Amino acid sequence: MERDDPPVRRLADWSADRLAELADEHGTPLYVLDLDRVRRNYRRMAAAFPDAEVHYAAKANTVRPALRALAEEGAGVECASPGELRRALDAGVPGERVQYTAVNPPDADLDRAVDLAAENPGVTITAGAPDTVERLAERGYDGRLCVRVNPGVGAGHHEKVATGADAKFGVPYDDVPELVASARADFDVVGLHAHAGSGISGEDLSAHRELVARMGDLAREVGGLEFVDVGGGFGVPYRPDEQPLDLDSVAAATREALGAVEATLTVEPGRYLVADAGVLLTAVNTVKEAPTATVVGVGAGMTTLARPAIYDAHHAIRNLSAAGADRPDRAVTVAGPVCESADTFGDHDLAAPERGDLLAIGNAGAYGYEMASQYNSRPRPASVVLDGDSARVARRRETMADVTRMETNR
Ligand code: PLP
Repeated sequence: MERDDPPVRRLADWSADRLAELADEHGTPLYVLDLDRVRRNYRRMAAAFPDAEVHYAAKANTVRPALRALAEEGAGVECASPGELRRALDAGVPGERVQYTAVNPPDADLDRAVDLAAENPGVTITAGAPDTVERLAERGYDGRLCVRVNPGVGAGHHEKVATGADAKFGVPYDDVPELVASARADFDVVGLHAHAGSGISGEDLSAHRELVARMGDLAREVGGLEFVDVGGGFGVPYRPDEQPLDLDSVAAATREALGAVEATLTVEPGRYLVADAGVLLTAVNTVKEAPTATVVGVGAGMTTLARPAIYDAHHAIRNLSAAGADRPDRAVTVAGPVCESADTFGDHDLAAPERGDLLAIGNAGAYGYEMASQYNSRPRPASVVLDGDSARVARRRETMADVTRMETNR
């Protein structure tokens, strides 16, 4: 592994000058993603799981240069929709390394997925309900099928991401052998899949271990599989004092829990590969002294980065304009421009922010742009990718015309 490859890239490690130049050139709010860091995160994951397949969960960030960079590194891609499937294939990921995980898929999704799988026969479709298996057969699909298992075990940083035990996801554990046996008549059943949840930390390893052990038991019971996919959820530190995940221990625990199976292990990291490769830049527009707090108003809001509003997620913030300046820290609340009280990035100690300052919000590479919306008729921001010394716009900033483009004016 490369020596200059720390297991986490903190917000303090980014060059304030380079980020300020990008903000000057492209405006704010601006997503910045460093492809070198994405590659390194992938290599670290692949090195920890040397005999496993690593499938990037595209939902974390579908920006094309990231998909391409990961494909070139050898990653597969796990797709949550036919749209992501299209994107992965368009980015050059070979069909054999692409998996579509269907969750209560509408008819149109299955139609598109089956068409794409016909054009790319290596694609695997994962079904999480007997109905989905039946609906695939009705469409004449007889290709590679994986069954998503509800392992009855969940884990994660928030109840809204602990999917493993949620009845919505996957076939009930005890029903899987019978479903696999009957599906074998119509499909090439190649794998079993489960995902415990997101944000698994060192302390949460027991849930991960339990899930993997259950998947190992099931794989031995049904036999004849190509892979056992134990999902993603590898956590990253969002707070400066949080330690990075010890990937080698997670990998060892995974191997041990899985036991001997004649199938390749697959892992599906999303956040781990892209979170700390990205920052969100935003400008301070208002500093207001209120009786209960000093509120620092910024241009980015819950429409730009939704995680704090949805999951109460903490993202570190740094005042880039204060780099090298002698400004004491102040306790402030950072809030966006959306007329909702949920539109806040929470309380932070920041080098005394002033109007016009540039702030960087950390760990914005995962579930940032992907969850952005046009609520309040706000155009979505631009995304710039860094590749070595070069920087290029990967998604241009939306305009008001983009926001109103679908209106019929009737
Ligand atoms: N796999 C599946 C099926 C998921 O639903 C998710 C996230 O929701 C992931 C992988 C990736 O999770 P993470 O980004 O936490 O690694």
